[in-house]
Amino acid sequence: MIIFKRARELRAYLHKMKDKGLKTGFVPTMGALHQGHLSLIRASQKHNEITLCSVFVNPTQFNDPKDFEKYPVRTEDDIYLLERAACDILFLPTVGEIYPGGITSGTHYALGNLENILEGMYRPGHFQGVCQVMERLLNIVHPDCLYLGQKDYQQCMVLKRLVELIQLPVRIEICPTLRESDGLAMSSRNLRLNVPEREKATGIFKALEFIRQNIEPGTTNHILYDAQVMLSQNGFKVDYVAISKAENLELVNHWDGKTPLVALAAAFLNQVRLIDNLLLETSN
Ligand code: AMP
Repeated sequence: MIIFKRARELRAYLHKMKDKGLKTGFVPTMGALHQGHLSLIRASQKHNEITLCSVFVNPTQFNDPKDFEKYPVRTEDDIYLLERAACDILFLPTVGEIYPGGITSGTHYALGNLENILEGMYRPGHFQGVCQVMERLLNIVHPDCLYLGQKDYQQCMVLKRLVELIQLPVRIEICPTLRESDGLAMSSRNLRLNVPEREKATGIFKALEFIRQNIEPGTTNHILYDAQVMLSQNGFKVDYVAISKAENLELVNHWDGKTPLVALAAAFLNQVRLIDNLLLETSN
């Protein structure tokens, strides 16, 4: 695996690869890698000659500075895992390398309602920060395909929108959420859970699974209320539990029994904020 710390050198290298007709798959991450990240690496390897992973904890997407300070950094372990996964390139830039002119952005990305609902509502500025870093990364890497996890459902929608806004010819592949054996979605933030918190953490998956199994056409109020109570009784401080149209995340208060849906939740266990989502099958 080749490790690049400088954007200029990475760009020059990728340019040569492109001239040879090789396709690049890009997996952007914030490190503290786990099997979920590695599943994206494998997805990329299936369809591209070159797989590039970036590890960059982007300061501009943290609306809470404490969350940024406490975000786990495991660079040595990340390099080891990526080597073992036969990843071709790791891009490991500094903040100065990504934001040579400083972290304040002049650009406002027109994300529409995606910015005001769910994560957008509870993490003001978060998606602007995500777009800011992703525009820079995409302009350095110019990948053929971008690999994202369904775990961050709303982020996938935001990045689809970004790619339209900046008119970049990149395909987006959304990969399924990898889970621990008890259902907890794998996440770098799980490293911050202590033993009792880790035991409770599966509650977020269970609440979503409860919605998936019990949703019926008609009002969604009761089931959302029950799921919220389940989480609170489990020790979570709930930001939201919601049911949305899978297509565009528009919130659904009354379900027609046909429209494909996704249930989403975000909740704190003490200091650690977890998010998860499940697509609700509509075969009945
Ligand atoms: P992060 O390092 O949390 O920014 O995540 C980097 C990428 O990995 C994002 O596209 C995430 O959606 C994806 N990802 C995170 N957790 C998982 C998971 N459990 N399964 C699959 N993909 C994931």
